[in-house]
This record gives sequence, structure tokens and C-alpha cells, in this order.
Amino acid sequence: MSDEKFDIPFKSPTLPKVLEPGSKLKFNCHPGISCFNACCKMSDITLAPYDILRLKRRMGMTSEEFLREYTYPFAMDQDKVPGLKLKTDDEGACLFLDPEKGCTVYEDRPTVCRYYPLAMLTIREKDSSQPKTQYSLVMEEHCKGHEEDREITVEEYRKEQGCDEFDFYNQGWYELILKKKSAGPGVGKPSEMSLQLFFMASYNTDMFRRFVLSDKFKASYDIPEETYEQIEKDDVALLQFAYKFMRQALFGEKLVPEKPGAWEKRVAERREIWEARTRAEIEARNRQVEEMMRKETLGEGETDTTPDPGDNECGCNLEDR
Ligand code: SF4
Ligand code: SF4
Repeated sequence: MSDEKFDIPFKSPTLPKVLEPGSKLKFNCHPGISCFNACCKMSDITLAPYDILRLKRRMGMTSEEFLREYTYPFAMDQDKVPGLKLKTDDEGACLFLDPEKGCTVYEDRPTVCRYYPLAMLTIREKDSSQPKTQYSLVMEEHCKGHEEDREITVEEYRKEQGCDEFDFYNQGWYELILKKKSAGPGVGKPSEMSLQLFFMASYNTDMFRRFVLSDKFKASYDIPEETYEQIEKDDVALLQFAYKFMRQALFGEKLVPEKPGAWEKRVAERREIWEARTRAEIEARNRQVEEMMRKETLGEGETDTTPDPGDNECGCNLEDR
């Protein structure tokens, strides 16, 4: 049916049945329910870029501070494309869970928390260039919401949970990951530098902003001043730019125009670095070979007593002359 799919959350026990926006589910979750907070006590929350933006704002933190305090990285695929999850305490409970009050960041909770008990699948069907979103139901024993007497369509549930805004701002990122998965080995493993760039542009947005507004970046890319101004003050504009820039870095799509000669200049700069590195490596290797030869000539453990031409211990008495 489909060539590739990307699902949020990962590895959840979903029913094989695919749900469309009009499909109905029987579910309700409310503070009086017997399992209240059970899901957050064993949380496994994968984060998308807009989730991080909302949470770091909520916490009044920079993206660096938020990543350090509340997240941990994991590899999303065999090429080690970096993903991020919310940290938990030692028992597996989400750090934002208050045992009495429930979720302390409810208005800014991540996409996965909003969708639960639905899983979102972004798929690309054969012969189609456009990704399509479908849903599936997550059935976990601890969740009693499925026993509640309420029927609701997927679309109504998404609206109720405020999923539209999150999907809108994360969509470019989902498509990027789907493209990476669909690309197959032909595209090759991304370089270490591309993976670092992916991490920074997806999650460490404050650092990505500094990178884009740096003189070096501006000297390389031909971007209107208004775009830089938007990027400076608007997190969402920064994210949209990040998605374009990542497509360029990962797949070579020409979406961010470069200044004439910028590529050649970068190659020349890199060549200087490569040449300096090569020279240093050759010198280090030469020193190793010299050392090895010296040991071979003298025998292991022997001390070289050859006098230094600079001192007068050569045997002749300079003072006698
Ligand atoms: S962010 Fe809130 S809803 Fe999501 S797992 Fe944590 S406490 Fe639960
Ligand atoms: S009904 Fe399900 S989603 Fe709601 S609190 Fe219980 S376990 Fe969590």
C-alpha cells in the first residue's frame, strides 16, 4: 500500500486497522478516571521541533537549557539521525507530571501527548509525491479511557486536543524524515556534519538562529534582509527556514540560494584546512618512523649517548685548544 511510513509515537502497540479522519473511536479521558496519570507515569515521548519550541518558552529557558534539563537523544534510524525524547524520573514518570494536579505543562504538552491514544502515520503511497497522514489506535492495558462511553471521530478528537497547530508547524519536519526514510541507501549515509546540523536546526533553535544570523552565514547565502529580520524575532519563521535548510544539507535541494562564488570560497577555505591537517599528519608520521628507526638501530631500551653537537662532551677538550 505504501512505500514508507513515519509514525509518532514510535514502537507503540497500535491496532493494525488504519483510521481515517472520519473514523470513530470510543474513548474519553478526564481527571475523575481511575487510571488518571497512569500514561504519564510510564512515558515515552518523542519530541518534534515545535514541541520543543512550546515547552522551552513555557519553562522560560533557552533551547540549550531545555535540551540539557528535560531531554535525551536517541538514534531514529540506522544512519543515526538524531531524535529527542523527554526525560523521565527513575520510575519512568514524565518530569512534568505532578501526582496531584496531573500535567503541569498541559497547554503546551507535546504532539504525542495530544494524540494519545492515536498514533499518527505519515506515509507516502507508491506513485505519489505527496505524503499522506493516517491514524491508528494505541491500545494499552492501563488505559481505561477505551471503556468510557463516548464516541468521537478522529477529526473531532484532533480538534479537541489542539493538534492542528502542532501538525502545521511540524509538518515540514515530518516530511523531511519521511524523505530520508524513503530515499534508501542510494542517497548514502549523511555526513557527521549534516547530522549535527540536523540536530541543531531541529532542536537547538537558539543556536541555529545564531548560526543563521552570523556574518559567515550571511556572506555565503543570498537571502533578503526581511527574512533575516523575521528569523531574528519569530521562532516559527526560524523553524520554517530550518526545514528548508535541512533539505538542502541532507538532500542537496537548492532551496536557499547561495551567493555567487560562495561555494568556491568555502572549498578553498576547506582546502587550506585539509592541507594544514595533511601536513601535520605527515610530520607526525615522519616523527614516528624516525623514532622507530632510532630504536631499531640502537636496540630496545638502549640509551642514545651520541653527544649533541652543541655541547663539548664529544671527547675533544675544547678548552685545551
Ligand atoms: S508532558 Fe504532560 S501529558 Fe505529556 S507525558 Fe508529560 S505529564 Fe503527561
Ligand atoms: S484514560 Fe488513558 S490517557 Fe487518560 S489518564 Fe488514563 S491512561 Fe492516561
